[in-house]
This record gives sequence, structure tokens and C-alpha cells, in this order.
Amino acid sequence: MPTRALSTAGESAVVDALGRNREPAWRARQIQAAVWQPFVDGFEGMRQLPAALRTALAAEFEFSTLTVDTEMPADSGLTLKLLCRLADGQTIETVAMETPGRDDSRRRSTVCVSSQVGCAVGCPFCATGHMGLRRNCSPAEIVDQVRAAGTALHRRGLGPVTHIVYMGMGEPLANVAATLESLTVLTRDAGISARRITVSTSGVAPAIAQLAAADLPVTLAVSLHAATDALRDRLVPINRTYPLGVVLDAASRYAERSGRRISFEWCLIGGVNDSIEQAEGLRDLARRTQAHINVIPMNRIDGSPWGPPEPEVARRFLAALQGARVTVRDTRGGDADAACGQLRADLEARRILRPDGTLSPPRVPARA
Ligand code: SF4
Repeated sequence: MPTRALSTAGESAVVDALGRNREPAWRARQIQAAVWQPFVDGFEGMRQLPAALRTALAAEFEFSTLTVDTEMPADSGLTLKLLCRLADGQTIETVAMETPGRDDSRRRSTVCVSSQVGCAVGCPFCATGHMGLRRNCSPAEIVDQVRAAGTALHRRGLGPVTHIVYMGMGEPLANVAATLESLTVLTRDAGISARRITVSTSGVAPAIAQLAAADLPVTLAVSLHAATDALRDRLVPINRTYPLGVVLDAASRYAERSGRRISFEWCLIGGVNDSIEQAEGLRDLARRTQAHINVIPMNRIDGSPWGPPEPEVARRFLAALQGARVTVRDTRGGDADAACGQLRADLEARRILRPDGTLSPPRVPARA
């Protein structure tokens, strides 16, 4: 059984393996390049390597730590939602979103990765929060989601991956060591600039300081969702440990050190955080911290009391943000259960979750 993940093994581990197989060290570069080719989906695809070496590498390294169980296209094929199965049978969600540009230089292919199986933060409006935390993802499991999404995009004539957001299942900064290692690999080996990577947090203040110390100038997105501690204690329960003032201090220090503008994510929930008072509070916090605001109207989840506000209420909320930098994000993949944790929740609802928390192969056909 291979013991090491190829994507995070590092060049020196590959050089050592080459030495043991009496192959020249320069082949390590060939192998590292092949890892990031979206059309190479196994050692067999590394045709530039001798067959015996391919076999030897396969015995030592795992080509990928995950397989794609289900691939659901949405938004006329511009969004791909992947259900990825890990070696222990647990499953996580990864989303790839293509944004066509006027020309190729403005085209974006963004991959949204999961950092944990489930999440301990327990935001009541979030499908992943309802699962609780099953376990952390390893650095390779995070990195390999980007590779799998790149391959899925490539097969549909889309990609390559240009941007990465850590906004899938889990709280990336509650798994900070794996998050930092995955960021190092993605910026070093996948050729994706830190400026094109966003790490989203519900507000793990000490880990924001660790991210700052790593000197990787990624964008930090704080999932704010409430402008007062009273409401945030309810919507983002980690606020009871790290209240708004503490999180915003840590985020401001991050902005200072990294030179990157922070952003505030605001999932707009009808009747919950869509009041004028909350909008004005959000605007003031954004002005004070020079933050950009991303408003994301909530996806409707079947059987959940949480949903988007009425259009008129949303319009008034946005108008009250005037004076701040605001983007309203579309809810990409809404027709493919794209709110975080929703695809998995949907499959659980179809009773294909095993008692140990793993999912059996889906009995539902992939929606084409
Ligand atoms: S919204 Fe994010 S932090 Fe909150 S429970 Fe869901 S995955 Fe965790």
C-alpha cells in the first residue's frame, strides 16, 4: 500500500524515491509537473516515465487521496459540484466555478475546497454545521480537491484553475496546520498566486495570527453574518469564544501585515440579519476596517426555516450599505445543492449514510 500522498510529498521525497530506483534526480521535475496536469489522472498517465518507474512510484506514493464519487453540473455547466470520497470512506464537497471573461485574461476558474469533514462551529443555518465535526482533512486531501476539480473542468473544456477559496465544508482555521501546509503547496507547486487564494474563517482569532505569521498574502474573508455580538452569538456560535471585537482586531492586524484588504462575508437570511440596523452596523465595521463586503443571499434549503429575504427587504438592506465597498455574490450552483454541506446533506437524506459516518456509493444517478 502506498504510504505518502504525491501532491504534498515534496521534491526531496520524490528525488529519494528516484535514487532508490536508480533513476536520475531530474525526473522529479517531470513528476512534479505531471501532478498538476489536469489530463494526468494516475501514474499510468505519466507516459514520459519508464513503465518500471511508474510501477515503483505507484507502490510508494498515493497519486491522489480522493476519488470523485458524484459530479453534478449546474448553471448551464459553468458550475461543477463534486462529492469527493476519502480513503476512509468519508466524503467532502468541492465546487468548481467557471466565470467567462471578455477575453481569456479575465476568465476565472475558481475552486472552493473543504478543509474538514463536517464542522464543529455549528452555525444553525448551515448544513455542514448540522453534521458536527467528523475529522480534519489532511493537507493532501485539501490540495487534491484542487487537482480533482482541475481534471473535471478540463474534461469539459474548462479551466485551468486560476483561483481557490477555502469556503467549503469546515472551518479552515480550526485545522490551521493542514490549511497552512496546503497553502504552501498550492502557491509553490500549483503556480497559483497567494493573491488569488481566499481563506474564509468564522473567527478563530488565534489562528488568524498564525496565518499572518506565515506571510502568505492570501485574502482573509471573515464570515461575519451579524454586526452585533448578541446576534452573532446565535448565528456563529464561535463568537461566544472570540467576540466581534477580538476577531476584528485580529483581522485588522492581518490586513496590516499582509497588505491585503480583508473581506466580510454576509449570508443574507430573511427575517434574521436583514434589518436596517444590521446593515448600518455592517457598513460601519467595514468602513472602520477598510473591509470589502460580500453579500450572499441565502440558498433555500428544503425543510429548513432559513431562506433568502424578500427582494424589497434585500434592496433596502443593500441601500443602507452605501458608502462601503460591496459586492452581491450570486449563489452559484443553487440548482446543484451548492450551499456548503448541502450536497452531502441531500445524499444523507436519501439514506445512503452508513452508521460510521461514511457514505456508501451513491444510489442516485449523477445528474447530467
Ligand atoms: S457556516 Fe462555515 S463555520 Fe459555520 S458551521 Fe458551516 S462550515 Fe462551519
